[in-house]
Amino acid sequence: RAAAGPAIMVNSCTGKMGHSTAEAVVRAGLTLVPYSLTGQSEAVAVGNVGISGIPVELVGPTERQAALERIRSKYPDLIVVDYTLPSVLNENAEFYCANQLPFVMGTTGGDRERLLADVAASGCYAVIAPNMGKQIVAFQTMMEMMADRFPGCFSGYSLAVAESHQRTKVDTSGTAKAVVKSFNKMGLPLEEEQIEKVRKPEEQIGRMGVPEQHVDSGHAFHTYTLTSADGSVVLEFKHNVCGRDVYAEGTVDACLFLHRQVQAGAEQKLYNMIDVLSAGAMR
Ligand code: NAD
Repeated sequence: RAAAGPAIMVNSCTGKMGHSTAEAVVRAGLTLVPYSLTGQSEAVAVGNVGISGIPVELVGPTERQAALERIRSKYPDLIVVDYTLPSVLNENAEFYCANQLPFVMGTTGGDRERLLADVAASGCYAVIAPNMGKQIVAFQTMMEMMADRFPGCFSGYSLAVAESHQRTKVDTSGTAKAVVKSFNKMGLPLEEEQIEKVRKPEEQIGRMGVPEQHVDSGHAFHTYTLTSADGSVVLEFKHNVCGRDVYAEGTVDACLFLHRQVQAGAEQKLYNMIDVLSAGAMR
């Protein structure tokens, strides 16, 4: 039975985010294209992966152009999702642009300037966002709006920030850094190095409240505490994410949004998650 809406091809279904997103596509009742572009060695060694009972065939870089022609003839309303690796992101984007394939790029890193330049030069439709968790992006945007609207509103207060992620994450949370920049404008001085990185499981569970099963499997917990000079006022903001579903669901929203823009022949071709939110494009 053909589902309404676009057909979505997720690259690569072998990865953690790709797998979660492909499952979210199926949950949403959309058509998951049973092909996934992946690394050459996996395509040869693994062959296919199961997504919610659907066998998805893996296609390596050397076969992808030929495969795409076949896929496109069967699924003309194609939207592509990319959750791959920083090292292959630019090459993949070039492939999508060259083939005028509308794409949602969730992969982080790579050469971002080159990515934007390639999209602009090709006129290909794309949503590019390092954070597809729309509720988190909405919170971040709200803090930035508050900073613009009420600069210095917390002058004299102090700020403490703690973030917790799986042990393997060595750098400081990008979201925490962005939110701290907004707080700086509100009159709360804090350097990036002062953001506390909580990586010890006992502290993650005890202090931050991370459920035990999410300590290693992936979580993103953030607590910002604002305290007045005399200690009589405390404001606390938290955004705590377990697992990957929030990003996967946001990615599906971005696909639906992009499909609508393509259908409407919108003049603007390049979007981010704030565009998706501004359009009220939530399910
Ligand atoms: P992962 O290592 O689990 O998956 C990456 C996959 O890409 C692997 O399966 C790998 O085999 C595959 N791959 C390798 N070469 C490829 C090629 N040439 N073409 C296609 N696929 C290829 O990583 P992950 O945890 O799924 O994260 C993927 C990316 O998504 C990272 O950059 C991560 O930072 C980012 N991310 C973004 C968001 C967001 O909201 N935008 C959320 C979480 C993660």
